[in-house]
Amino acid sequence: MIHNLFSRYLIEWNRTENKRKMPWKGIKDPYRIWLSEVILQQTRVEQGLKYYENFIHNFPTVRDLAAADEKKVFKLWEGLGYYSRCKNLIHTARKISTELNSRFPDSYAAILQLKGIGPYTAAAIASFAFNLPHAVIDGNVFRVLARVFGIREAIDTTAGKKIITALAEQLLDKKEPGTYNQAIMDFGATVCRPANPDCADCPFQNHCVAFREDIVALLPVKTKKIAVRTRYFYFFLPIYRATVPVRERLSKDIWQHLYEFPLIEKAAETPAAEIIRAAVRKGWLRQDTLTEISPVYTQKLSHQLIRSVFIACRPAAKPAGFENYRWEKITALKTLPFPRTITQHLDNF
Ligand code: SF4
Repeated sequence: MIHNLFSRYLIEWNRTENKRKMPWKGIKDPYRIWLSEVILQQTRVEQGLKYYENFIHNFPTVRDLAAADEKKVFKLWEGLGYYSRCKNLIHTARKISTELNSRFPDSYAAILQLKGIGPYTAAAIASFAFNLPHAVIDGNVFRVLARVFGIREAIDTTAGKKIITALAEQLLDKKEPGTYNQAIMDFGATVCRPANPDCADCPFQNHCVAFREDIVALLPVKTKKIAVRTRYFYFFLPIYRATVPVRERLSKDIWQHLYEFPLIEKAAETPAAEIIRAAVRKGWLRQDTLTEISPVYTQKLSHQLIRSVFIACRPAAKPAGFENYRWEKITALKTLPFPRTITQHLDNF
């Protein structure tokens, strides 16, 4: 396909066919664009919408986010995963607020300098807010370009990434980079979808190599398989005078800065009796105070599968062994940010 036709067809499709509505579309405020992009990297549009609106409602400006109590921000982020990204969000908002007088930088290079903002988000902010000619390159763009131009190089290799990045920069409509970037992402999400692309109704049908050669399902090529590790979490809830021990997860592991109950982790599924014996040895539990062992809750992360069980007891005296925890009223637990699996259990509690 002739390169300059690609951009023309895409912009035309965007003008006449693109029905995708998103509340942040057309917005020029870099703070809101940044928020929407960071949230969309974590979840699908339908779910992201609720998070975006909540964030904007609570923190309408970068200055409000910078001044916010971290715990409140983490609570709003709850369920999105990758908590280091939330931490970066707060860090960057504070930097913009204090060092840049709450003004978002307006060049690609300066935006890219901000913590937690990579080339994709920098290109989105630069093009949507400031109309700067930087191509966004996400999974949608990789897929559309690999199919239309018949690129067989694996997109998860350095060589494949290089080819698509160069092509994306070349194809970008330099006069309307924001419109073009939004259009290609929308096109990938609604027409050239990962499964069941709508080739019958596609403006590129006559030019698309993948369609012509009947290899749509084979592109884009990926080589690597993600290895998923399963972890087994056994949480303890000793309920003493309507309080339970909780603590913030501070280590560089999943769920950093979220809260948790006392935990025994195992590399393999372990019988409850063995776990309870270990807890008794730690002084966390007495067998005769045991009240409930929950069903298994499963939470899938990108590279890990977390299987959790909650073991509750009602000791008559305050149990020992919880020096690093604080006793929190059960009624106040909903104000703390927890991983989704714990929130699910608390909803059934
Ligand atoms: Fe994608 Fe099919 Fe259109 Fe090719 S013809 S760009 S594979 S939707």
